[in-house]
Order: sequence, then C-alpha cells, then structure tokens
Amino acid sequence: MRTEFDRELEERLVRYTAIDSQSDEKSDSTPSTAIQLEMLRLLRAELDEMGAEEVTLTDYGAVLATIPATTVGAPTIGFLAHVDTAPAYNATGVKPRVHRGWDGADIRYPDAPELVLSAAALPYLAAKVGHDIVTASGATLLGADDKAGVAIVMTAARHLLAHPEIPHGKIRVAFTPDEEIGRGVDKLLPADLGVDFAYTLDAARVGEVEYESFSADAAVVKVTGVSIHPGTAKGVLVNALHLAAKIVATLPQATMTPETTEGREGFIHVYEMTGTAAEAELRIILRDFERDGLAAKGALLRQVCETVAATEPRARIACEIKAQYRNMRYWLENDMRPVELARAACEAEGIEPVSKPIRGGTDGSRLTEMGVPTPNVFTGMQEIHGPLEWVSVQDMAAATKVVIRLAEMAAK
Ligand SMILES: [Zn+2]
Repeated sequence: MRTEFDRELEERLVRYTAIDSQSDEKSDSTPSTAIQLEMLRLLRAELDEMGAEEVTLTDYGAVLATIPATTVGAPTIGFLAHVDTAPAYNATGVKPRVHRGWDGADIRYPDAPELVLSAAALPYLAAKVGHDIVTASGATLLGADDKAGVAIVMTAARHLLAHPEIPHGKIRVAFTPDEEIGRGVDKLLPADLGVDFAYTLDAARVGEVEYESFSADAAVVKVTGVSIHPGTAKGVLVNALHLAAKIVATLPQATMTPETTEGREGFIHVYEMTGTAAEAELRIILRDFERDGLAAKGALLRQVCETVAATEPRARIACEIKAQYRNMRYWLENDMRPVELARAACEAEGIEPVSKPIRGGTDGSRLTEMGVPTPNVFTGMQEIHGPLEWVSVQDMAAATKVVIRLAEMAAK
C-alpha cells in the first residue's frame, strides 16, 4: 500500500493547505482574492525549479507549464487542479494534521472538542484503516478540495520530468483560481492550454472518472419596495423583505430543493437573502442534468416572481437568470475516448473505475463546453467544504499513479 509518492504528497498537501487561498464570489477582481496569488506564485516557482518548460502565470491568474514530450505522435494532454478553497466555510488559519497509519479510532479536533470524525458513520473512511489520514484542526475546512488535486498534479509532473524514459506526449499542467465561485475558466484558457483533451483532478472517491455534471444557471431576484418612515407608513410602505420572503415561501420546499433531491434530480436552491424594507435581494442557483429540466426550473422561478409581483403592483421585482455551465456529457458523449482512457488507466492500476453524474460542476464543465474535452478524475478528498474534510495520502498516491499511467497510455 505504501508508495514512493506518499511522503511527497503528504508534504505538498500539508504545505499547500496551510496557505489560505479562499475565493470570494462578491469580489470583481481576477483572481477574486489576492491571496490566491501566493499559491499561484509558489506553484510557478516550484514548476520552474523541477524543470518544467513554458512556466507562466497568466493575467487571469492561471499557472501553466509544459512537460515536454518524450515520444512523438502522441496527443497533448492537460492536467488541471484549482488553487482556491471554498467560500462556504472558514479557510483562514488551516492547521493540517496527519494521522499516520490511522488505527480506525475516532478522530478528534484540538480546535473543536465537540467535533468527531468517526468510522462508524462513514463506511468509506472505515475502509482506510492503516492509511495516512490528513484532517484540519476543527476551526477550518482542510482545503483538500482542491489542494489534493494540486499536490497530485505537481507530484506527477515532478516524477515525469525526472523520468524521461517514461514515454508520453506533450503534457500541459494548469492551476486555476476561482473554481469554487464558477470563474475558473477564462475565455483565453482553452487556447493557452493548447491540448487535445484534459482532466481535472477534482473528483472524490478512488476510481471516480466523471463525465456528467449538472447544467447550471444562477438567478438574482431584486425586490424594490416603497420606503417611508414607519410612523407615517400607513397605506404607503411596501416592504421588500415581506415580498422576498413570499417568493421564498412560494417556491417548492418539499421537492426540488437540494435537501430533498438526489441522483439525477435537479433543484432550485435559495442560498442567500439580504436587504432592507426598501430593497431586498435573493440569490438562487438552478440545477438540472438536462437542458429542458433546467429551463423548466427557470420558468418556474420567473412565474413565482410574477405571481408575487401581481399581489403588489407598487413593488418592482426583477428576476435575472444567467447561464453558469452545462452538462459536459453533451459534448463528451460524441467522443468518449478521453473518458475511456482514464477508465483504462484506473484498471491498469488495479482500480475499478466509477462514473456517476456529478451533482455539481467543475472547471471541466466549462472547458468541455468551450471545446476542450475535460473529464474529472478522483483525488481522494472527502467531507469537503467543512471542518470534517479529510483525505488519505494513499488515495492521493493512487490518483498520482493513474495520472502517470494515463500520460503513458495516451502515447500508445
Ligand atoms: Zn474542487
């Protein structure tokens, strides 16, 4: 079970996760947070140091590099991971903890004594007895999403550069910012990557090779009421908060929400409500695996807004829906070779490949839509975006071997 990659992966993961590189949806800058540049500059320096070629940090905050081909006639492949961590949970001051050769006992947290990571509740974790398990300290997420992916791509790159006897085509590695806020793929990235196809290292369980993601839209509903001093408000005040609450209450709750759906079902998720009596705003995401299902959810949201607007003609309710990304299956199903290659690389490493639809999106969803077929390959990360997040170093090593194998098999 121990591999030559374990210590390097552990060392990289611990070092990378300790760097705060959380993204911020509310920011207009690129990358959304300057702290991501620290990670990006570090990776640029490390790629230079390991002898990668064409190492660049682009204006849009992606680090790109080349591992030159060691054989001719092979396709050019890309491997990507994102440097940002999720805005969903505290990511400042991550103190990674390594439980070497974990004995299966409950894992407790110095910064949150009430918190427990228990094998009894998590069968996937229970199967990792003897592994080196990395967690955070209880106060933050770990950020294995996607620093595990970053560590895997960096370790595979270092290995391939050190072993030119391994036959492979030209390889491009890319580290992107702002994946968690859906802004990881700049319009220039496909051309700058210059690959025939690519893989994101951003899936979870060992063996996962994902080629279906949600199709995703985001909506902002703005409610403008009529504001006046409450002492003289009779017959005049129109409270935007009441109307916003009415919209939320009219949307489906027992169905079509994230908490009531699974598998191939889509949802409408109201994730933020802000405002005052004068003006209120709802932020909503719409998800479905199919175009018509997504369109129906958008139509339902508009209908709810119109219905509530009709109850109060003095208010203004504006519903703006924007496309985020589309199910990558629409494009990948036309040419499944990148998916089949990843699945074959898993099998060659003695890992059973699993392809389930992702109830989310990846940078690969956008890249695929933009003409770069990009399935998603496992990293081992689990319980992501929260304080219980963990990853097994040996699972990361399995992913590293799959990446190296993939590069080799693509050249055959
Ligand atoms: Zn991720």
